[in-house]
Amino acid sequence: MLVLMNVNATDEQVERVCKAITGLGYKPHPLPGAQRTAIGITGNSGPVNAGGVEDMPGVAEVIRVSKPYKLVSREMKQENTIVHFDNGVTIGGEDLAIIAGPCSIETRDQAFAIAESVAATGVQFFRGGAYKPRTSPYAFQGLGEEALQLMAELRERFGLLIVTEAVDEKSLDLVEQYADMIQLGARNMQNYSLLKAAGRASKPVLLKRGISATLEEFLMAAEYVMSEGNYNVVLCERGVRTFTDHTRNTLDLSVVPAVQHLSHLPIIVDPSHGTGKRDKVLPLARAAVAVGADGLIVEVHHCPEQALSDGAQSIYPDQLAVMVEDARKIAPVVGRRVPLNDGTRTAVRG
Ligand code: PEP
Ligand code: MN
Repeated sequence: MLVLMNVNATDEQVERVCKAITGLGYKPHPLPGAQRTAIGITGNSGPVNAGGVEDMPGVAEVIRVSKPYKLVSREMKQENTIVHFDNGVTIGGEDLAIIAGPCSIETRDQAFAIAESVAATGVQFFRGGAYKPRTSPYAFQGLGEEALQLMAELRERFGLLIVTEAVDEKSLDLVEQYADMIQLGARNMQNYSLLKAAGRASKPVLLKRGISATLEEFLMAAEYVMSEGNYNVVLCERGVRTFTDHTRNTLDLSVVPAVQHLSHLPIIVDPSHGTGKRDKVLPLARAAVAVGADGLIVEVHHCPEQALSDGAQSIYPDQLAVMVEDARKIAPVVGRRVPLNDGTRTAVRG
């Protein structure tokens, strides 16, 4: 159920409707849009009894949402969600967001060397794993909080926004403290308690698609995060498992327009995990921009042969520079742009 307010409804009217929804035992989710505010209703186990809400001042109409997901749907919010960061950078607006960095933070020197080359390309976000979900329990599991501290330093030094994965509720608390964006990985896309905990966090969430998740399962995972009140969710297509073996996963680029049809949330593409092969990353990154993705997340390593995780799919820093240039050329075709590195970027904090 969704309450659509009149275009000129006042803040007080929105507040009164929210109070009435709370009084009925449900949870109101007011999402202001450019045209009008919509108030989603959750917390119901059966059909919502809107008990007189439709007659309240400022209410235009009360509509039933036809899909199982509510808050993520276009019915709830027609215009695209734009996620804003402290330094004015956005995801989901005109600017294409590019996130680049190593799969894992390995050493201080490695992290600084890669961050320097990432910043030099004008990319605004740095990724680096501190907690690694590995197939083998004997493989490198990440440096944990030490890596988070290093990335906090990188933010100060290079003005990069930090994106890193939380694998459980304990690491989520630390990631929320240190990073600018909380990544939830493919393996955890259906870890509902973690999704809900991220929904209570104060930082935007980057939600990666599960290894075999349908579009509806993907959107329902985002609904879990939003249902707890965190509306800053960015989806990420990172490839799904198919029968093919020429790539690690099959990058499902058709999910981008499919998501954009059904949801107002931004969606970015990960051609690194999506292909697993360095030589496929740039072609698929170009395709992702052309298909209308809101951004890219790619793994970069200055010495991928020695990387402790995902070296085979990590591109070299000079390839990242080419990728950014290619994205800059393609973006205008789909009404986007890649901001230039004008050398004026300053540290995000401090
Ligand atoms: C990663 O980004 O390094 C990662 C583990 O991604 P995914 O969850 O998509 O496998
Ligand atoms: Mn990786």
